[in-house]
Amino acid sequence: MPASLRVGGLTRFTSIDYPGKLSAVVFVQGCPWRCGYCHNPQLQARDEAAGPSWSEVMAWLPRRVGLIDAVVFSGGEPTLDPALGDAMDEVRTLGLAVGLHSAGISPRRLRELLPRLDWIGLDVKAPLDDEPAHRRITGVAGSAAAVAESVRAVLDAGVASEMRTTAHPALLDDAELRHLADGLAAQGATHFALQVARPANHMSAPPADYPAPATLAHLRAAFPNFSLRRE
Ligand code: SF4
Repeated sequence: MPASLRVGGLTRFTSIDYPGKLSAVVFVQGCPWRCGYCHNPQLQARDEAAGPSWSEVMAWLPRRVGLIDAVVFSGGEPTLDPALGDAMDEVRTLGLAVGLHSAGISPRRLRELLPRLDWIGLDVKAPLDDEPAHRRITGVAGSAAAVAESVRAVLDAGVASEMRTTAHPALLDDAELRHLADGLAAQGATHFALQVARPANHMSAPPADYPAPATLAHLRAAFPNFSLRRE
């Protein structure tokens, strides 16, 4: 019997994790990156899943049909779980839409999964051409190339998407934010959300004037659909 999805947690009802849809969120255990602002560090270790089993989720989910529109797979980094594709197919058989949150860690796995998706929120942690900034944020070498390839794959597939960046002045200054946005817009991204980080781990609260108004105006002008979130 194939291994089933390793679930680290479940949000049964949310209106904010898939734009315009009511959804449940399945948090998949495991992530090889180590971002300082990670809100789910308990999901990083692959072997410590504390959520319900996937079969328990699938026993519960049919009762939610009619109350929710979609299931979002989040993490951790869900694309790295070999059982994700089958889990998405099971969700679709219930008539629910399939959403994904990913940091683009594995463009190869993401490409395989894109045909199964109705929507993806893709984390872009730094300018696509800036490997030192990616390494500073993720703690892992080679992360810029992986994210750049994942962005290309999503845009080429034409799947509904939102590129999103968590921003903190200790990690990305205003010039880097503008450069990041320009790079995404040049690739054809139309939906972008800037999520200003809240205090996490060793990071303090960002100052109220970050990003600067001129930077926000720059981002608004770069995308037809821009959202600012203060997490
Ligand atoms: S990629 Fe996401 S889940 Fe992984 S460490 Fe970074 S913020 Fe956390």
